Amino acid sequence: MNDCCIVGGGIIGLSLARELAGRGMTVRLLARGRGADTTSWAAAGIFPPAPMHAGISPADALTAWSDTLHRTWSKDLEAETGIDNGLLPSGGLHLARSAAGVERLRADAGRWREKGTAADLLDAQEVMACEPALASGDDAGAILTGMLLRDEMQFRPSRHLDALEASCRSRGVVIEEADVRQFVIQGTRVERAVTATGEIAAGAWVLAAGSWTGGLANAFGIALDTRPIRGQIVLLRLPRPVITRIVNRGLDYLVQRPDGRLLVGSTIEDIGFDCTTTPDTVERLEGVARALLGELPGSVFERSWAGLRPGTADGRPTIGRLPDLDNVYISAGHFRAGLHQSTGSAVLLADLMTARPTHLDASAFAPGRAAPPAGTIPAGSTADYLARTVAAID
Ligand SMILES: Cc1cc2nc3c(=O)[nH]c(=O)nc-3n(C[C@H](O)[C@H](O)[C@H](O)COP(=O)(O)OP(=O)(O)OC[C@H]3O[C@@H](n4cnc5c(N)ncnc54)[C@H](O)[C@@H]3O)c2cc1C
Repeated sequence: MNDCCIVGGGIIGLSLARELAGRGMTVRLLARGRGADTTSWAAAGIFPPAPMHAGISPADALTAWSDTLHRTWSKDLEAETGIDNGLLPSGGLHLARSAAGVERLRADAGRWREKGTAADLLDAQEVMACEPALASGDDAGAILTGMLLRDEMQFRPSRHLDALEASCRSRGVVIEEADVRQFVIQGTRVERAVTATGEIAAGAWVLAAGSWTGGLANAFGIALDTRPIRGQIVLLRLPRPVITRIVNRGLDYLVQRPDGRLLVGSTIEDIGFDCTTTPDTVERLEGVARALLGELPGSVFERSWAGLRPGTADGRPTIGRLPDLDNVYISAGHFRAGLHQSTGSAVLLADLMTARPTHLDASAFAPGRAAPPAGTIPAGSTADYLARTVAAID
């Protein structure tokens, strides 16, 4: 019997499996889908600047700590597996093309500076000098202002997942395809999971099943809102890179990889467990690329996909042991920042599971914590971003 069994083979489950196995635990990981079948694979791989600063919120502190850990993990993963996850301090350029958008960027720049992050405001000419390809965009004349965040980074989710899986296997983690249906509870312990094909026993359990975690947690009487929020992405292949920074306009973005592939994202859609792309959104995203970069000679539509972000009611993931059960833990609800927060989430939960002192105050992420008061919309929550899509300003 393994010391721990993790349900979920996305970035959250794999990162935790790697961390626990690195501490000498025997780990089994069960996943219904892996690789390209996960939200983690479908993500863009944008890491906004993540400074640690006075008065930082618990969610931002988790991101800031994770950001630092990513730099070490990336190097270690490459040394262990030979896979380069493409972590790149490319910088990010944020654009505004309306008076309200300019105001928003100015306010954003002020907030970044207060946190100690460089945020340069650029006029239209400076924007074009920064990323000359934007001058070919259909909307070039409409861009009024830009904000350059030098500390924004990108990485390649698919490669990182491959590296995590290879590292897990080399540390002895058993990775299996399995659809977990329910759990067998004896007193205050979960003894076994019931899968589509049999039963599996383990010493401890972790639910890290992304948007599906809320459904699994119901079995333990825990109300956890990991509502699936769909995001669609279009991938174009260009003969060579035309931009070097991540280009953001409102909630839309372009991320170009050094091999020329250009990601165009995304949407924030509350439509349930539907992971398909829609022709109108694919067309709209292709239009975003044209509006920003023009016709892009030689570009080819490679594919489109969608992923389901695990929502969060209060803007924080849920990480910790379930109240009233001795051996069941959760790490889920990372919404738009699951890639970024994956390293810190893994180390935090591993510390809790192995009774080590934690780097962050874990109570802010505890399962069963009080829900936000009715009628409030916490920053970074699912409701916050759904409202922003309605009131999108750029
Ligand atoms: C379009 C898009 C862009 C994004 N961009 C970014 C970004 O730039 N930066 C960032 O930090 N985050 C980004 N995100 C968010 C990020 O992808 C998620 O927060 C993160 O992937 C969540 O990881 P996870 O491991 O919890 O879930 P998932 O990756 O969804 O993994 C869940 C796992 O659980 C398994 N599972 C589910 N139910 C069961 C079951 N019953 N039995 C067994 N296995 C089960 C699934 O098969 C899967 O293996 C983006 C998301 C989308 C959709």
